[in-house]
Amino acid sequence: MPRPIIDEEECSGCGVCVDACPSDVIELVGDVAEPVNDEDCTGCESCLEECPMGAITEIEED
Ligand code: SF4
Ligand code: SF4
Repeated sequence: MPRPIIDEEECSGCGVCVDACPSDVIELVGDVAEPVNDEDCTGCESCLEECPMGAITEIEED
């Protein structure tokens, strides 16, 4: 199963990835994006491509 790997140190909490994800996988928890619905990730890479901080480093495949 794919899931986004988010670097908390680089995340600005802008929320772009939350809006970019068509599967509602990512939410802001405090000021940091977290994958809260990993099981719904399709691996589309929209979040990775749209993050302005480069904080989503990869889509990991288990
Ligand atoms: S788009 Fe990037 S910087 Fe913005 S909340 Fe998501 S992971 Fe953080
Ligand atoms: S890879 Fe696609 S489905 Fe998975 S978290 Fe990112 S935008 Fe959402």
